[in-house]
Amino acid sequence: MNVHLKALLTHDPETQLSAKARAFAARPKQLFINGEFCDASDGGTFASEDPATGRKICDFASATAQDVDAAVRAAHAAFETGWRDMAPVARAALIFKLADLIADNAEELAQLESLDSGRPLNVTRVLDIPFPVEALRYYAGWATKLSARTIDLSLQSDAYHSFTRREPIGVAALIVPWNFPFVQVAFKLAPALAAGCTVVMKPAEQTPLTTIRLAELVIEAGFPKGVVNILTGFGRPVGSALAEHPMVGKVSFTGSTQVGKSIVQAASGNLKRVGLELGGKSPNIVFADADMDLAIPGAANAIFAGSGQVCVAGSRLFIQRSAFDKVVSGIIDHASRIRIGAGLNRETEIGPLISDVQRRRVSSYVDAGRKAGADVALGGSALGEAGYYYSPTVLVGTTPNMTVQREEIFGPVVCAVPFDDIDDVLPLADHEVYGLASSVWTRDISTAHHIARGLKAGAVWVNCHGVYDPNLPIGGYKQSGWGQELGQAGVEAFTSLKSITFRL
Ligand code: ADP
Repeated sequence: MNVHLKALLTHDPETQLSAKARAFAARPKQLFINGEFCDASDGGTFASEDPATGRKICDFASATAQDVDAAVRAAHAAFETGWRDMAPVARAALIFKLADLIADNAEELAQLESLDSGRPLNVTRVLDIPFPVEALRYYAGWATKLSARTIDLSLQSDAYHSFTRREPIGVAALIVPWNFPFVQVAFKLAPALAAGCTVVMKPAEQTPLTTIRLAELVIEAGFPKGVVNILTGFGRPVGSALAEHPMVGKVSFTGSTQVGKSIVQAASGNLKRVGLELGGKSPNIVFADADMDLAIPGAANAIFAGSGQVCVAGSRLFIQRSAFDKVVSGIIDHASRIRIGAGLNRETEIGPLISDVQRRRVSSYVDAGRKAGADVALGGSALGEAGYYYSPTVLVGTTPNMTVQREEIFGPVVCAVPFDDIDDVLPLADHEVYGLASSVWTRDISTAHHIARGLKAGAVWVNCHGVYDPNLPIGGYKQSGWGQELGQAGVEAFTSLKSITFRL
């Protein structure tokens, strides 16, 4: 690695953060309950670290089960005493205001997100902050458009008048992972508020920084006390206590399939509604007739963007045999030119993994693949002296029974697998556990339709990958999830449907 690239691997928050972001990042952080900042009930704290250097950023309050109870009660009171019945136009105005405040503070938030999550500034500036602004604006619009239907009864239409109503579920617990911290907050917060729910949010313990900054903007926007509560802390006790709490009506969770299952169990006490966005092992299918100028960088970005820490990452790459060598060498060439570095460096294209734990996990998968007989065509090792970097890795010669090809790695590791024709690839692409996303690259429109119909996945991208829009619902098949986020489905997920019937 040349000296220039080596220098990219570290950054200096002291000189590279704006004065505003630096001052915010340095302050110890508190919980946000009922419109006020407070310490954890037992005074506990934990530190969030900078994944580019391994250095501590600052201390956060570590919430307890008692804090969860206080936050849920505050959210419940706010729901019962105003938010539920507030005119939709007034709720919309507050959500629009919050979006505007995020936009006004976008540069600071982008810097904080890059520091805490390792995501490059040139990505957080164009995606991680602007997309939440758009998601909030989109859902602010839904607050005034949610409505239901008049129903003509099938048996006695002239004896009764029936109609439906969409009503907010109540208190929603929003449990968020570390890979897109601020984006994931917006995917849940915006529809929950628009639907008329009040919320208790728990950011991931690795990446709470921007969510706590959001609490300040919630105050500035003028939300009534208790509508938005934010608890920093760990999966246990915070996430689990939220999932169990009898006054929580809905839990919306994004994270691992394993934790998703424990949330379902915890939620069973009061049979609360559960929305889950879980893991994936998404197939990416390249046919020999594809436009390779699109497909090769597209397939590389599908796995290497975000260092592969993306639930929809295209981690299983199926390539039609006649194009296999060309596509693999194209991806290797593309990946070798990606600038890996610390989040705050302007040239960085992909950042570090989130933690030492995550890097060890990725390494052990690749080692297991090697042992099982896979060939490492690119990468396969950690990078740099400090921070949690791992090089983009291409494995060939993997088989469906190898863990690298079966399990979600959540790192920049792709298994390239050849296939012969359209009929072979669908059974290969089908995963026994996951069905989150998929993509297909071809110029043949009937091949594209055939594969798009046949894939057992909640999202299919044709000649593209990872296209998200506030109006486009996304959710997993199989053990990749329950329900959808975004779009109309995303806001309806925070409502209950009531039917009302009048005798005429
Ligand atoms: P990842 O694999 O992305 O780290 P996790 O599923 O471990 O995902 O974590 C996602 C979120 O779920 C985090 O906010 C984490 O603190 C929280 N969490 C972890 N364990 C539990 C649990 N048992 N109950 C509820 N939330 C949890």
